[in-house]
Amino acid sequence: MRLIDLSGEIFQKCPTLPNHPPVTLSAYQTHETSREAEGVKFSCASLFLTLGEHTASHVDAPCHFDERKSALSIDKMPLEQFYRPALCLDLSHKPLKSDITVSDLQDAEKRTGETINENDIVLIYMAHYDRTFGTPSFLTDFPGLTKESAIWLGKKKIASFGVEALSPGRPGKNNFEVHLVCRDWGFTHMEGLTNLHKVVGIGRFQFAGFPLKIRGGTGSPIRAVAIINDSEK
Ligand SMILES: [Zn+2]
Repeated sequence: MRLIDLSGEIFQKCPTLPNHPPVTLSAYQTHETSREAEGVKFSCASLFLTLGEHTASHVDAPCHFDERKSALSIDKMPLEQFYRPALCLDLSHKPLKSDITVSDLQDAEKRTGETINENDIVLIYMAHYDRTFGTPSFLTDFPGLTKESAIWLGKKKIASFGVEALSPGRPGKNNFEVHLVCRDWGFTHMEGLTNLHKVVGIGRFQFAGFPLKIRGGTGSPIRAVAIINDSEK
């Protein structure tokens, strides 16, 4: 068994969208300051971390994009939704700032030689991280899903999909519409994934990306991992 880390790093001032809080990460206590109890000296280090729920690799809870009282918060979502068979579609040929169409997704599914099944997790590799991370383009210039291509995923009754950008649709109308499709078709998505090139072309694998149990949370950072069982290949 191999584990592939698909998570982005959380660090001081890591990129966040303007409608989410910034990340601060700083020393709270260090080994320079030791304490003493009954003659025993001890030092420990810890950091002070503040962040929004939608930081780095994270998953959206339905209550993020669905105002109805019945929409689940992150702590109420079934854990099974975060540990599912997965497939990664290769959309890395798409130019930055382009729309991913239904036929783009259909072609990419065909190229995997597999079929997207009900309750799968579908990862969508757009080579966005490698092309833009560390530049302002990371937050705005990704290829994105549209209402139609999101509905195509919804009709397949997937559990969720995941992208490298911090939004699934291009900024503005498309991004709002993709979130509304998730609301209306009963699935969700993960944003801010990395290393998707490592799971393209390998067929089906197991995905794990558990959220923190944030009471009433609208989303949560996840440690996204692909679990590859080589003995089955
Ligand atoms: Zn989202």
